[in-house]
Amino acid sequence: MKALLPRIEISLSQIQHNAQMLSELYGQKGIALMGVSKATLGEPAIAHAMLQGGVKFIADSRLENILKMKNAGILTEFVLLRTALSQAEWVVANVDISLNTEIETVSALSYYAKMQNKIHQIIVMVELGDLREGILPGNLSEFIQQTLSLSNINIIGIGCNLACYGGIKPDNQNMQELSALADAIEHEFQIDLKIISGGNSANYQWYESAQKVERINNLRLGESILLGCETVNREPIPGLYTSAFKLIAEVIESKEKPSLPTGEICQDAFGNVPTFIDRGMQKRAIIALGRQDVPTSSLKLNHHWEILGSSSDHVVLDSKMII
Ligand SMILES: *Cc1c(COP(=O)(O)O)cnc(C)c1O
Repeated sequence: MKALLPRIEISLSQIQHNAQMLSELYGQKGIALMGVSKATLGEPAIAHAMLQGGVKFIADSRLENILKMKNAGILTEFVLLRTALSQAEWVVANVDISLNTEIETVSALSYYAKMQNKIHQIIVMVELGDLREGILPGNLSEFIQQTLSLSNINIIGIGCNLACYGGIKPDNQNMQELSALADAIEHEFQIDLKIISGGNSANYQWYESAQKVERINNLRLGESILLGCETVNREPIPGLYTSAFKLIAEVIESKEKPSLPTGEICQDAFGNVPTFIDRGMQKRAIIALGRQDVPTSSLKLNHHWEILGSSSDHVVLDSKMII
């Protein structure tokens, strides 16, 4: 039996191209990139393609993914995007830089770094409105002061994350605020912040429209490298490939059928009562893939096909062929 379907076909050369175009684009105003690998569970071949394209770091939210890449021989600086107190010892042993917001966690990182005879580097995340991770700007100074008293921690930068939980758009105002916080911290504590990390794939429009990027010199990009789009409106970025990932599935039925079901309509497989519009006869296809495999609402179709609906193991498509 050939069990090759369904599958995702990934073009490493297109991912490398996207990473290279974005490295060049953001590089024009002095911004270096972290390639974010979490959406591919730290697939080493993809991290390699990102690095070949010119990203300077590989960042992931899961230690397991970073270990997978290291074990596969990926050589770069690894950044952990989400740091948990319970993993502090493991973080210090395996990661060069981690993003942090809790003094208890940073203290534990320092403790284990001392035990392991290391200096662990951190980027301190600041809350600028999106309300996911971040220290409130008013509490940043105190946090930096407490961190500076820890023997084996080096603060290499500050950063923020927007357009994730609250859908807050990166703009001149919040980027200026991050730049001003960097200046203020450097001035107050007489330290150098090497990395000012302004955000993720949602920062594209801000970057394109900004006259000056001020202190922002780093972005952490996953989706725009992988899928070739920005993430405020999910518009394609010019010059990038948008189909480096292709889902291939098998057609298991292809027939002309009416668009209106017959009989009395009750609940469907998910407890909803569906409604239908009569569009006459349709050339319909069923693919062997369902909601157990993928959230079908997030699929984009080639050509002019349309997803009519899906159940746990079937997706029903309209090929839009004139009958
Ligand atoms: C996932 C993540 C990113 C990457 O986001 P994209 O939208 O894929 O570019 C950047 N920073 C942090 C902290 C993240 O968790």
